[in-house]
Amino acid sequence: MSETIFTKILNREIPADIVHEDDLCLAFNDINPQAPVHFLVIPKKPIATINDISEADREVVGHLTMVAAKVAKEMGIDQEGYRTVMNCNEFGGQSVYHIHLHVLGGKLLGWPLT
Ligand code: IMP
Repeated sequence: MSETIFTKILNREIPADIVHEDDLCLAFNDINPQAPVHFLVIPKKPIATINDISEADREVVGHLTMVAAKVAKEMGIDQEGYRTVMNCNEFGGQSVYHIHLHVLGGKLLGWPLT
């Protein structure tokens, strides 16, 4: 797959407000937040879309959710609640083709989506 801006963030070629890093993933605040808390959790392995996840990615994909919950707790939004979203392709609103889990919180979020 072609390199995305998230590869540049992983390689420290462009800055990001990093909130978590470990062997499998990186989490950083979204540059255009859609809620008072909005961070992204990305695998270090570049995977373009949810459609490209393979059996070998089971651990890392599960890990993204574990890290989302850990960082959400650290940010103090776990009890009031928050939302995780992974957009896929055009109709899902995906703009960066390196999978990422959005974590949004800090306010009452609307549902259903329009
Ligand atoms: P998508 O539309 O689901 O693919 O989400 C991509 C997200 O990446 C959007 O919420 C963007 O605001 C965010 N984003 C794009 N470039 C950067 C960056 O350089 N730093 C942090 N977030 C970014």
